[in-house]
Amino acid sequence: MGDGDQAPWKRLDPAAQGRFHALWWSDRAVLPEGDKSRPLIPCGNGRSDGDCCLAPGGTRLDTRGLDRLRHFDPVRGRIACEAGTRLGDLLDFLVPRGWTLPVVPGCPAITVGGAVAGDVHGTNHPTAGSFGNWVRQLELVRSDQRRWFCSAFENPDLFRATVGGLGLTGLILWADLELKPVRSPFLTRETLGCAGLAACLGLIREGGESWEYQQALVDVTARGRRLGRGLLTRANHTGPGRHPPPPPSREPLPRATVTPRFSLVQPWSGRLHFLLQHRPQPAGSVHYRSFFFAPEVWEYGPLRYDPQGFLHYHCLLPEATAEAGLGEVLERLAVSGRTAGPGRLGPFGANRTGGLLAFARPGFGLAVDLPNRGRATLDLLAELDRVVLAAGGVVEPSRDRQLDPSRFAAFFPGWETLLPYRDPAFASAFWRRVTGESS
Ligand SMILES: Cc1cc2nc3c(=O)[nH]c(=O)nc-3n(C[C@H](O)[C@H](O)[C@H](O)COP(=O)(O)OP(=O)(O)OC[C@H]3O[C@@H](n4cnc5c(N)ncnc54)[C@H](O)[C@@H]3O)c2cc1C
Repeated sequence: MGDGDQAPWKRLDPAAQGRFHALWWSDRAVLPEGDKSRPLIPCGNGRSDGDCCLAPGGTRLDTRGLDRLRHFDPVRGRIACEAGTRLGDLLDFLVPRGWTLPVVPGCPAITVGGAVAGDVHGTNHPTAGSFGNWVRQLELVRSDQRRWFCSAFENPDLFRATVGGLGLTGLILWADLELKPVRSPFLTRETLGCAGLAACLGLIREGGESWEYQQALVDVTARGRRLGRGLLTRANHTGPGRHPPPPPSREPLPRATVTPRFSLVQPWSGRLHFLLQHRPQPAGSVHYRSFFFAPEVWEYGPLRYDPQGFLHYHCLLPEATAEAGLGEVLERLAVSGRTAGPGRLGPFGANRTGGLLAFARPGFGLAVDLPNRGRATLDLLAELDRVVLAAGGVVEPSRDRQLDPSRFAAFFPGWETLLPYRDPAFASAFWRRVTGESS
């Protein structure tokens, strides 16, 4: 795996990752042997900020060679492709043909398998749900080499366990996805400043009827009257017309740009990062690539780079407790001075996939990155978990690297319903940590 393709911001110890086993072509894929002490775990492009795609002492099933298109139906709006296909490549194929993915997360390198197994969401969750809502069928191979077709009608329980199942039920070989029609590659977008958290939440609630995509960048260093101040971006797909030229497809940044020896992530840099991105803009049209995927200089650039890597924290609080609970989370983050870059605040609707580790529920989610300062960062996140739990909220498992078994069980009381569907030879660093299972 080239460094440019890895997730350099994690700064993972190679020994903690497991060795790679590359897979090619879903019709020939045979899984290597694995067992409890040498587990298997599928991996896409390693874009999950957590450790759910790592198998210390075991084997990571590298799906990036499974990237063929199997079938495209331009009349009904369906596409079947292998699990290692990147979402950015799919969009580049689909949008000129008048179709898009109904759910687009914020990174083009995410693979179809990772999007299904993580049941990823976009900034239109209240209307579109999560990625799993649009999967009509998939094929799974398990460690006994048996293959399973899964859908809402065929092996429906295994299907439900696999969508959002974090790769624990077997390897997804390909998925058949329902698409959404679009009339052009552009969206109409506007951005509005919000003086504080209540204003941000109020604008998002009001905009829910008329705007499909909504997300606010939040200054996680602000306190007092400015606590939760932000910049709300909202958008809808638009038709043909006069639009700016499309941006080029982006390649990963060279590794040299993300590996300085010192950290620029300081208490002041979070605010600087927010202010640099905090530019209210008049309504206008924007190409889908620029809209969905933040420039890599923000995602992987020096203002967010830290030699020890990052921990990502994404919590979701129910509508009724969101303002008070998120206010407390933001206050503790601001006091700690330990965040990198702005937070992202967005609305969520009900979970519709029925996934066993389902994260989504009606309310508001807040995502932040924290430079990894070891124990101090873990203690801060445990403190935030207690606030989120008390508010009836939840944290996103696919991006977690810190939950312990008791907090995991508190957030996901039904987690054991996944056990009958889990492949006995599959386990990840995440799974071992949150279940306390030893090798
Ligand atoms: C810049 C950035 C922006 C992001 N934005 C969003 C966002 O807007 N919304 C969101 O929900 N998430 C977001 N994420 C997180 C990311 O979308 C998810 O964690 C996603 O699952 C990563 O996909 P991946 O292909 O890189 O898979 P990996 O990170 O390699 O794996 C993720 C999980 O999927 C499993 N998996 C991967 N492939 C398969 C397969 N073929 N079969 C079975 N299991 C498999 C792995 O075992 C693991 O549990 C973002 C991440 C980054 C870096």
